[in-house]
Amino acid sequence: MASQLKTAEMQLLGFGHASKGFSIESLADAMGLKKSEWMKLRNLDDLKPNDKQSLDDKFQVKVCKCSRVIGIKNGICMTCNGVR
Ligand SMILES: [Zn+2]
Repeated sequence: MASQLKTAEMQLLGFGHASKGFSIESLADAMGLKKSEWMKLRNLDDLKPNDKQSLDDKFQVKVCKCSRVIGIKNGICMTCNGVR
């Protein structure tokens, strides 16, 4: 139950933050969100595409045309072999 309360708290904080007109980047900073955490959370359906893009840019996440995340190793998509 504790984690549910925590989740509710984070959601309310996030909503309050957004309703004041702050950007999703400043929200991520306020939460202390790390890139590794973003990588696990970025597929949430509730995120607007442009907000997702904002955090992808913030964390320098490169996404291929096929919508797979491109590995930082060589900049080539491991799924379709395409380059962004
Ligand atoms: Zn691809």
